[in-house]
Amino acid sequence: MHKKYNVIIAGAGPAGLMAAIRAAQKGLKVLLVEKKATLSEALRTTGPFFRIKNPIHGEYLTLDKKNGKATVHFHNSNFDLDYKGPLIDMHNAYFFSNAGYRLNTTRKDRPLSCVYSMSALLGNLQDAAEEAGVECMTGTIALTAENAEKHIRLQVRRGNTVSWLETDYIIAADGLNSRLAETMGMNKNRPVILQGPCFEIVFEGADFPYPPGISFVFGKDMLGGSGFLFVYPYAGGENRLCVMVNNRFPADQSLKLINHFTQKSKFSSWFKKATPVHHTSAIVTIRSPMVTPSIGRMLFIGDAAAYGETLVPGAIRCGYYAAEAVQEELSGNNGFKKYEEFWSSNFEYVTNPQKQKDYTKILRLFRSLEDEDVDFLFKLSEEKGPIEEKGDVLASNEFTKANALIDYFLAFPQVQGALRTKLQTVRGNGPSPDGTIKDDL
Ligand SMILES: Cc1cc2nc3c(=O)[nH]c(=O)nc-3n(C[C@H](O)[C@H](O)[C@H](O)COP(=O)(O)OP(=O)(O)OC[C@H]3O[C@@H](n4cnc5c(N)ncnc54)[C@H](O)[C@@H]3O)c2cc1C
Repeated sequence: MHKKYNVIIAGAGPAGLMAAIRAAQKGLKVLLVEKKATLSEALRTTGPFFRIKNPIHGEYLTLDKKNGKATVHFHNSNFDLDYKGPLIDMHNAYFFSNAGYRLNTTRKDRPLSCVYSMSALLGNLQDAAEEAGVECMTGTIALTAENAEKHIRLQVRRGNTVSWLETDYIIAADGLNSRLAETMGMNKNRPVILQGPCFEIVFEGADFPYPPGISFVFGKDMLGGSGFLFVYPYAGGENRLCVMVNNRFPADQSLKLINHFTQKSKFSSWFKKATPVHHTSAIVTIRSPMVTPSIGRMLFIGDAAAYGETLVPGAIRCGYYAAEAVQEELSGNNGFKKYEEFWSSNFEYVTNPQKQKDYTKILRLFRSLEDEDVDFLFKLSEEKGPIEEKGDVLASNEFTKANALIDYFLAFPQVQGALRTKLQTVRGNGPSPDGTIKDDL
């Protein structure tokens, strides 16, 4: 077997594609291995939103739209990404309670976020990879790897054939539930924090009666069971609405929630003339993050190494910096160490357990509240009017928005007694003294 590649990248999601593009642009010989048959196909559920000027994982984005294409600017990393595909501006976000009360966050001067098409984004990245000279092997599953002193081998399966590919370095970008993380022993000290199924159904001909925005819906009458779901516009196709549930096992419970919401809830009128046209699913596993995301000549990037998710912009940045890391390694420098510094300083949950708790606090908040509590809080909010977002670059991000929401509720003098204590308890993270709120999810 002849060594042919400087780097093999396993997984062509946003992280792997960006790593491949950058590495090839730097003149490296790159092979991209992907299990899907078609790179641009978005098979796994994800929420495709560019959050504008909303800092997260050490970065924030702005969007420049011109002549049917958009340039996504990564401010702190100082690079741009061209996106050609549908975009929907969202100036609003909504939370609906069981009785239908609405908490509405809004922004007038610019969108809070834009919905994009994941297939279009992957297709754009694929075009850039081809242009940069990346060799691609689709329909191929990366199984495991073997480190040697001067090279590393990747074991792959294509159809019924298993073979080994030799290279200088491997970037593992195989995402959520990374097989390479498992087979390389990287999950040994990464306990599972949360695991559950996720479904998304796209409905055509749906009628959302408010200006476009992401909605969160809560309550037993709305869903027919416990949990919550997301509703948001689908970029690509008129009047298409996505309904997504992220729940606990058994998996069919999630589908039941979607069916109840779209057929029996007080918002079923939105779906009266709608038909389901597309669906995706995923098993979401949140593990503690890799603190040292490498083993020998293999670097783990994006969701493969994350506490749950890096989010799409975060994954793209991982790919960008991973290519630099491999180039540095090939030049005899410690590029992986540099990547590790980027990883732990930008993705705060890597080294700070408090940030891990904050990241999932929004789930904990709503799992701690009864439907009546949520009705009461959202009614107060609806009577007060929309929460208007102001300021240039937002102060709140994924880590702090649950805290900001709790503070907003606590500012109502009507919020008293057990509900106030509950909110304060979740805000402060601890389990409640009577054990009704547990210190987990
Ligand atoms: C339910 C849900 C909602 C989300 N909502 C948002 C959101 O609102 N905004 C946001 O920015 N992000 C969101 N995310 C997170 C986002 O999707 C990820 O952070 C991002 O896609 C990570 O990119 P990645 O390249 O690391 O991994 P992935 O996107 O998972 O890509 C991994 C790639 O590797 C391939 N692969 C997997 N295993 C193998 C293997 N063994 N061999 C070869 N190829 C393999 C896969 O087919 C895939 O193409 C959400 C995720 C989920 C699950």
